[in-house]
Amino acid sequence: MIIYADNAATTPMSEAAIRAMTPYLRECCGNPSSLYALGQAAREALDSARERIARCINAEPRSIIFTSGGSESDNQAILSAAANGKAKGKTHVITTSIEHHAVLHTAKKLQKQGFDVTYLPVGENGIVDINELEKAIRPDTCLVSVMTANNEIGTIQPVAQIGELCKERGVCFHTDAVQAVGHLPVDVAAQKIDMLSASAHKFHGPKGVGFLYAARGVKLVPLIEGGAQERNLRAGTENVAGIAAMAAALEESVANMHKNAKKLTRLRDKLIRGLSLIPHSALNGDAEKRLPSNVNFCFEGIEGESLLLLLDDKGISASSGSACTSGSLDPSHVLLAIGRPHAVAHGSLRLSLGEDANDEEVEYIISAVSEVVAYLRGFSPVWRDLNSGKGKFIL
Ligand SMILES: *Cc1c(COP(=O)(O)O)cnc(C)c1O
Repeated sequence: MIIYADNAATTPMSEAAIRAMTPYLRECCGNPSSLYALGQAAREALDSARERIARCINAEPRSIIFTSGGSESDNQAILSAAANGKAKGKTHVITTSIEHHAVLHTAKKLQKQGFDVTYLPVGENGIVDINELEKAIRPDTCLVSVMTANNEIGTIQPVAQIGELCKERGVCFHTDAVQAVGHLPVDVAAQKIDMLSASAHKFHGPKGVGFLYAARGVKLVPLIEGGAQERNLRAGTENVAGIAAMAAALEESVANMHKNAKKLTRLRDKLIRGLSLIPHSALNGDAEKRLPSNVNFCFEGIEGESLLLLLDDKGISASSGSACTSGSLDPSHVLLAIGRPHAVAHGSLRLSLGEDANDEEVEYIISAVSEVVAYLRGFSPVWRDLNSGKGKFIL
């Protein structure tokens, strides 16, 4: 038995997405830029996908451009807003200390180009304080980039309030909504979002395809030079099959969102209650303002990597920190940002449930994690020191 509990890293494709994709891999293989019927059929698939995706986030179809995924969308959004700002002499950017590396590393790149970047801290609950954001906005601020939901600890940011504030202050607002689209209600008009990044493989579409929403009036700068695809904003033959699958996956996720969220929230809270019984453990991030699928814990006295490997032996696929940081020795920047000390941040576990999760699986996860944590603590020198009074418990 394999329990896949790493849906924040990627999700399996839905049947609807696979069905939508196959014709464009086989007989309907035309290039959307070709004028004959096969090309035009591919063009129609793009138009239809654009309209349906736009409807899912309450946008105009012409505001959606297709990209290779969340990272590309984040890069293009941020670099575009920075270029637009620079043209007006505005070179200050605000983001948060818990963003995905696609945002953080792009912000670092801007700093090297002379931009001033403010990394807003978050509270212990992993949520940005709107008053702190308000204080950080300056006359030369050209962009606020705050993610909708965090990929590690699942915390949900007050996006509508941030959108309102940015509108009042005339600052462009970008949100990395990769973890939110298809899972939480997203309405770019109501939430006053100027730019939004999304990725198909986080909502049961294929990997390597995503989209960037840019409101009318927000000028995008292309990252890739070449043909005139996507109104000259993203060169390269479109990933027709992937885009068709992304639209099908998103429509299905949005249609079932309410039902899935309700079910997952119950299972998530059961998992949280079960894992909280492990001594010297703590939930990371706000208990309520979090994705219905996300559970993230720190266990004192153990290494997250060892925990993962032993859980894998028990058939559970989970994550420690984000997929990008595992393999490196640095603890998660998100856990450090919510105030977890290095020693504790190393012993973290992220479980992100899929819509097909059930009570039996959650119960199995609770018993497996409890057993493995106890086992690892049994020969952990750190744990021995804590218990003998040489070290001090933090959790
Ligand atoms: C997965 C993820 C990304 C990167 O998306 P890709 O499509 O894998 O490039 C960016 N931001 C967040 C919040 C994510 O979870």
